[in-house]
This record gives sequence, structure tokens and C-alpha cells, in this order.
Amino acid sequence: MCRHGELGNGPSAGMERRGLLMSKARFEVRFWGVRGSIACAGRQFDGFGGNTPCIEMRIGDHVLVFDAGSGARALGPQLIRDGIKSFDLFFSHCHYDHIEGIPFFDPLYRPDMNVTVWSGHHVDGSTTEDMLKQFMQAPFFPVGPEVFRAKLDCRTFHAGETLDPYPDVHIRTARLRHCNGSVGYRVEHNGKAVCYVTDTEHPETGLDESIIDLIRDADVVIYDAMYTPEEYEATRGFGHSTWVQGVALCKAANAKQLVLFHHNPRHDDDALAAIEAQASECRPGTIAAREGMALSV
Ligand SMILES: [Zn+2]
Ligand SMILES: [Zn+2]
Repeated sequence: MCRHGELGNGPSAGMERRGLLMSKARFEVRFWGVRGSIACAGRQFDGFGGNTPCIEMRIGDHVLVFDAGSGARALGPQLIRDGIKSFDLFFSHCHYDHIEGIPFFDPLYRPDMNVTVWSGHHVDGSTTEDMLKQFMQAPFFPVGPEVFRAKLDCRTFHAGETLDPYPDVHIRTARLRHCNGSVGYRVEHNGKAVCYVTDTEHPETGLDESIIDLIRDADVVIYDAMYTPEEYEATRGFGHSTWVQGVALCKAANAKQLVLFHHNPRHDDDALAAIEAQASECRPGTIAAREGMALSV
């Protein structure tokens, strides 16, 4: 069995679990929340982590954050400690597990912070501003986004558009097949590409060709591996995918590293270790994302 299937062992070839380096050429990915649907606590989840999606990319001098699930709560103080004064926050979509960390994200309360907020999943003409206001409102939440003191620059795009937030960072997007819409991202820098593709379901007829196109030849593919194939039989139509489909996608697209993500809250550490072992047997180098894990691309 491939060593990458063993829980707690080192990550795959070319990747290192280590601190983020200070370098113009750096392309670092750190996982602050890897769980899907709902945060979960308990020792049985400690190995992989219980917080919902939040991924930080440090690319050259830039900080890009993808989704603000409950993992954003711990990322916030780290950004402030590191003296970050501006960053970009991209949303895949606004299901609760991807936004529930917004009101608890410390940088948003800092008047010296500039945050560009991006979303492009909307299917009803809503904007990024609408998303924030509709989430933080009575009677579901005690205060609205007017409590934030950071300078927020909200941008709304259409899934499928390309984004160029910086001259040296190019982002392609694709609409994913998910209830109420979701966006997959391909982030390119210095000849490298990392894809963030979560909350998506394939058509009955086979793999979603638009994802294959998005992740083609990518260095890292972070992918919705919510279900096992057996579980998927009972959850068809819920808008999620399986690790087997992740393996097939990376093979079809000649992508290098598959990182299983959006872990099912019903899967404890033992279950996820077993999934990781099976997946890495099928596609050597595959790993399951762990909270706190960092990859250097
Ligand atoms: Zn989700
Ligand atoms: Zn979702």
C-alpha cells in the first residue's frame, strides 16, 4: 500500500507539510477548514479536523482566501498577527457551511484592513453585497454587516468568467452542478495551477466535462469527496461527489495531486483514513485534506 494512505504520515512527493515561506515565488496552500455540511467536534475528528471550508493561498505577496466556513475563525487572528492589511476572499457559494465563519472573521472588524470579496455562483441576479446582508440579518443573526469596519470591495462575477485580481495571479472559474449554484476556481501563478472544486455533482451520463477542462494538467486539485460510492446511491441529487469521481477526474484531466476535501461529518478519522488509503491506492499521491495542513506548490 502506498505510504500516503497511512494516517498521520507525510504528504505526497513534491509537497511538504510545513509553515508558509516568505518568498516572491511562493505558492502555498493552507487548510483551515476541511469538513463539509456542518462543523463537528470530538476526539474522533481531531485527526482531520471538524471546521467547515476555509482555504488560504499565499501567492507571492498576495493572500487569497477561499470560503469562510467555521475555519475562518482561526485564520483571522493569524492574518492579523502576520500584519496582513489586504486580501481577497472568494466564495464558492453561500450554503451555510461556506459562509458561517463570516461574522467571526476578525479581519472584517479592523478599520485598517482592505478586503475584496468575490462571488459568482448566483442564479437569481443576487450580488455579493446581497449575500452578506441576507446572511447576517434578523431574526437569524443579531447584527448586520454594517458592524464590519474593514473596507470591503464587493465584486460579483458570472461563473465561467476569468478573474485577474493581480498581474501575476490569473483565475479561471466554472459553474458547478450544485443546488443554487457553486463556482469552481483554477488559480494560476508562475506556471503552477491549484484548483478548488467543491460542492458539485456529476451528470448521470458521466463526468462533468467543464470540470475536466478546468483542472486539466493542474498541480493540485482540491475536490469534493463528500461520499463514498455506496453512500452516493442514497444521496443522489444532494449536489455532491465521491472520491472515486475525484480520482477519475484527475486521471481524465492529467492533473497531478488530488486532495480529498469537504469531508462528510459522518466520517470520523478512521473512516477518512480508510478512504484516503483506498484513494491513494487507486491514484498514488492522493491525500485527504487535514485542518492545519500546508502544501507548497
Ligand atoms: Zn458545502
Ligand atoms: Zn453547498
